[in-house]
Amino acid sequence: MPQIPKWLADTMMTVANPWLRHAVVTDTTMVSDELRLITFQGDFDEEHFLPGKIVQFRVDDTSFRHYTLSSFNKQQNTCSVLFYLHGKGPGSHWASSLQAGQTVKFRAGQGKLKYDEKTRHHFFFGDETTIGLFNWYKTTALACSHEYFGVLELHPPHGTALNNLKIMIDNVDTTLEAPAVSAIDWMDEMHPDCWANWKGATFYLAGRAISISRFKKYLLGKGVHASQIRMDAYWADGKCGL
Ligand SMILES: Cc1cc2nc3c(=O)[nH]c(=O)nc-3n(C[C@H](O)[C@H](O)[C@H](O)COP(=O)(O)OP(=O)(O)OC[C@H]3O[C@@H](n4cnc5c(N)ncnc54)[C@H](O)[C@@H]3O)c2cc1C
Repeated sequence: MPQIPKWLADTMMTVANPWLRHAVVTDTTMVSDELRLITFQGDFDEEHFLPGKIVQFRVDDTSFRHYTLSSFNKQQNTCSVLFYLHGKGPGSHWASSLQAGQTVKFRAGQGKLKYDEKTRHHFFFGDETTIGLFNWYKTTALACSHEYFGVLELHPPHGTALNNLKIMIDNVDTTLEAPAVSAIDWMDEMHPDCWANWKGATFYLAGRAISISRFKKYLLGKGVHASQIRMDAYWADGKCGL
């Protein structure tokens, strides 16, 4: 429910209050000119704060939006979310306005994606909205001595976020008109020995709905089994708040 009447949003907040997480913004860092990493401090438990977990914020009187945890630190009781400030909706405006010291409430829950602990190879495909997710997956892969690889469709200035967060994957320029095309070209240029290593990976596709659907079709055409592909659409052209 991305948008609902204010009275209903108020009621939902009251009813859900016992399950809401209360947190304080402790740090805000721009990791590229439109990607803002926000750290929250609160009473967080390891059971619910796992890689890929989804959080939902009320971003104005009538709107709720989903985001993904990017990291968690039990000792410091902090977690972080990487917000893409695309400037087109209330979620983006709300994330731009957050300041250190501000209190927030959010719901935390399991998303559709789950890190596959049984596989050694993990391949990431997404965009700006998925860098937070893949930041935590990268940390998990390194902790498990697994390997990760992948390609993101990004607006050129946002490639610096991957360097700043030390996520060793590639990026190609995104275009509104040709979703997934540059990423598929990038795949086609991969050396056959490299593909032989990676075709058995677990593939995580997240972000723009049309891009992930085209990328999935491409992978199936390359002989990847459907059971190796995990997908979650984070946004769709012209639609508000998936
Ligand atoms: C499970 C889940 C997890 C998510 N995790 C994250 C996360 O960690 N970080 C993050 O930044 N986002 C994340 N998103 C995506 C985020 O919720 C959407 O981008 C959302 O639309 C932002 O809300 P908004 O109010 O700013 O824009 P909306 O009001 O929802 O949309 C306004 C317009 O902007 C367009 N739009 C939305 N997103 C984009 C985009 N990325 N690029 C270009 N145009 C866009 C819409 O198509 C629409 O036309 C996640 C979404 C889901 C479903």
